[in-house]
Amino acid sequence: MPTIQEELDRRQLLYSLLMPVMNIYVPGLDKGKALYFLFVKTESTTPGGLPARPVLTSYYNSHHFRHRPFDPYNNYTSPTAAILCPDSHQSMYAQMLSGLLHRLEVLRVGAVFASGLLRAIRFLQLHYRSLAADISDGSLSFDQVSDPSIRSAVAAFLRPDPALADLLIRECGSGDWAGIVTRIWPNTKYLDVIVTGAMAQYIPTLEYYSGGLPMACTMYASSECYFGLNLRPMCRPDEVSYTIMPNMGYFEFIPCDESTAAAPATAVDLTEVEEGKEYELVITTYAGLYRYRVGDILRVTGFHNAAPMFRFVRRKNVLLSIESDKTDEAELQAAVERASKLIEPYGASVVEYTSQAYTKEIPGHYVIYWELMKRGEGERETPGAEILDMCCVETEEALNSVYRQSRVMDRSIGPLEIRVVRPGTFEELMDYAISRGASINQYKVPRCVTFSPIIELLDSRVVSTHFSPRPPTWMPQRHSLT
Ligand code: AMP
Repeated sequence: MPTIQEELDRRQLLYSLLMPVMNIYVPGLDKGKALYFLFVKTESTTPGGLPARPVLTSYYNSHHFRHRPFDPYNNYTSPTAAILCPDSHQSMYAQMLSGLLHRLEVLRVGAVFASGLLRAIRFLQLHYRSLAADISDGSLSFDQVSDPSIRSAVAAFLRPDPALADLLIRECGSGDWAGIVTRIWPNTKYLDVIVTGAMAQYIPTLEYYSGGLPMACTMYASSECYFGLNLRPMCRPDEVSYTIMPNMGYFEFIPCDESTAAAPATAVDLTEVEEGKEYELVITTYAGLYRYRVGDILRVTGFHNAAPMFRFVRRKNVLLSIESDKTDEAELQAAVERASKLIEPYGASVVEYTSQAYTKEIPGHYVIYWELMKRGEGERETPGAEILDMCCVETEEALNSVYRQSRVMDRSIGPLEIRVVRPGTFEELMDYAISRGASINQYKVPRCVTFSPIIELLDSRVVSTHFSPRPPTWMPQRHSLT
């Protein structure tokens, strides 16, 4: 995405509004620190010679961030040197260590997206012993972090603290990860993390790890343009609306009305959108994008004074299609949520999922990859094959009527398949994406995979496969579906 120097000022402006809004709802955030896991990537160059880097990397590397004046409301535990280190292991290690050392001062814990915060928790699970050893000795192990600027930044506050090391071993070594965030950072008031849109599926996992802390979705932004902020950041995730700031770019909205799908709808301005209606966001940016369709669908939920507030509904693109059926991200997510209710009584949940339209056989069928997590011990044993077969049926029941018609009447779609992959698979997927240039901050698990190396990776981690034993229900509707 093209960007220009002055865009940084606009982004900075949006960032600078977040804490004044938050302060209305959660007072006292200037009396402690924020544990945020923030990352950069190394810069690359386009064939035309322009520097290219993820949007957040460019912000963290900017003068605005590097030389920001001290602000008690944005006092991060992570040393800037750790945030700016492109080696993600060293960066994460140092950020986690710093967060642990300042644990009683931490008032909020976060990352840009929910997936980033879960990755940090996973890192803690894998590395708490080494972190505890470093805390106990008061020295940063060279094999974990060799970057000299991080080492000197951490040396400024790392002192031997055997009591903290013991606490870490006790809390992390017990095998019980429920509420780990508040057990280690007991003064945390909320999680600062985006859990709207594609991130919504992480809410139960984050609730589990945080013991039910509120989750604040503060802003809505993209590489193309920053859009706006949530003026009620402590509301429930399903109630989040973002108010677009008209000075960030020029915004237009294409109405998403099924009945006008044949004739392209005319875009309306920010002042003309109507409450309750859905629109596709179109932007014209200072950096040069002209009437660019971001691909996000938003619903107007109300107004703040005269400014419309928008709920993020979904990315526009259809995810899965075997023939005339079209399943989008929101439908797939709802179907996975519904099916996963069947495994809840077993203390299990779907921590990650993705899908593919499997068309190597005729008829093709949907394949959903599930990574499961067992929550509590002592609950009923893991869900067996019969239950997982029923999850396939339940997923199909939740899909739209065109899909079910194709399954029942036309038989043009085969039985839905769930492939359960072993724990850690989706982290490997993320590692793979990062190794190919994705940014940790901006990484989002693809809800549909088409790239063969990724499909191969997923398939090589499958531990069991399950098919719908019967077709879903479908009743003919009065209006024919074309
Ligand atoms: P990227 O270009 O990688 O920064 O991704 C930008 C996209 O992420 C947006 O167009 C949205 O689809 C999604 N996104 C960003 N912020 C939010 C948010 N607060 N809620 C839901 N989705 C978001």
